[in-house]
Amino acid sequence: MGKMNERVRSAALEVKAQRWLPGGVDSPVRAFRAVGGHPPFVERGEGAYLVDADQNRYVDLFGSWGPMLFGHAWPPVVEAICDAAGRSPSFGASTAAEAELAELVNACYPSMESMRFVSSGTEACMSAIRVARGFTGRPFVIKFEGCYHGHADALLVKAGSGVATFGIPGSAGVPDETAMHTLALPYNDLAAVEAAFESHPSLIACVIVEPVVGNAGTILPAEGYLAGLREITRKHGALLIFDEVMTGFRLSSGGAQGRFGMDRGEAAPDLTTLGKIVGGGLPVGAFGGRLDVMNMLAPLGPVYQAGTLSGNPLAMAAGKAMLTEILAHRDTIYPQLEAATAKIADGVARLAAEQGIALTTNRIGSMFTWFFTPEKVTDFASASTSDTAAFGRFHRAMLDAGVWLPPSQYEAAFVSTAIGDAEIHAVLEAAKEALKAVTR
Ligand code: PMP
Repeated sequence: MGKMNERVRSAALEVKAQRWLPGGVDSPVRAFRAVGGHPPFVERGEGAYLVDADQNRYVDLFGSWGPMLFGHAWPPVVEAICDAAGRSPSFGASTAAEAELAELVNACYPSMESMRFVSSGTEACMSAIRVARGFTGRPFVIKFEGCYHGHADALLVKAGSGVATFGIPGSAGVPDETAMHTLALPYNDLAAVEAAFESHPSLIACVIVEPVVGNAGTILPAEGYLAGLREITRKHGALLIFDEVMTGFRLSSGGAQGRFGMDRGEAAPDLTTLGKIVGGGLPVGAFGGRLDVMNMLAPLGPVYQAGTLSGNPLAMAAGKAMLTEILAHRDTIYPQLEAATAKIADGVARLAAEQGIALTTNRIGSMFTWFFTPEKVTDFASASTSDTAAFGRFHRAMLDAGVWLPPSQYEAAFVSTAIGDAEIHAVLEAAKEALKAVTR
């Protein structure tokens, strides 16, 4: 990495943004409050790199929080979007591309027999829960501490004791009544799930889970955990929802369920939610699964769900370009991602060990997190043992050395296929120095 320019233009853009947008942002973590310092303002992306307003280049290790599996401005997606835009950005009427993308999704996710496209992961999860409640006629939802399923009222329930029985809103502006049907339980703890079903007989509509957690940092499911959730939900007549907004098309072409052999038959979740990669960087989400459940949706059934921009032609075109590539080259894409990510994640883990820094590295496929803690991280409580101030120092030093990590300890980093040996080398060189900032 060359010498960085001072971020003068970014600083001016931040001042202007703060005048017009709360905190200067449209999504809170972008403000860098959790890590300190000031966010660079992005001018453009080029493959593995982000370029800021002061012409600094950064190796991008958050990839728009997931979607950029093939790096930035990947030509097939850009061309597909331009082509669709030329035919008009929106119709509010059906186009061929919606069923075509659905067919491609199903080729990757056999458990999604029928699906509907929406405009964000939030909408996908909110709608999946509504259809689960409509199908079962039950009110309660189980979610797990540290899992994030978007910012719908009922899903913003904070982790912590006391939420296991009645939900406590994790955000001001969410009435207790809205969240009281959300039960938040510790991740990787099947006994807690059994106990909740025992204490709420025939009242729990569904369990929604990130099969691999990304939103508390990367946390892997313990052996048998997901199968256990499948068994318990089935036994109690509740639906199992895999939120694969983050893991979808990332951990394999069939996401976490494909990777864990849970993508069909008895092992599969009833519903799956998708976002991020399925839209190639445009605002898209999807939810789908069992035909009998999805047929509850209007106009076939009584569960209402709709969207002016749902199935938007630009978004469908971008999604089709992504999934076509994934289906054609999945045998090479995922091993390549795995190898590159292992070099980065394990390489920095080794450097930390050499410097005597307590670092726990959780990785699966091309998502990973470096937790600044000596503890094993298996749930939100153990993730919370991290030294977030140390992470902040590391983040700032990495940024100044030209590597952009997700700006929070409680997020997953993502690697794209655009990251090659030169970028891996740059990340490791940056980390060697940045880790020194951690102990300072
Ligand atoms: N579910 C998961 C697992 C996510 O990671 C996210 C976003 N990070 C969402 C849902 C919400 O998606 P969106 O931000 O597109 O609304």
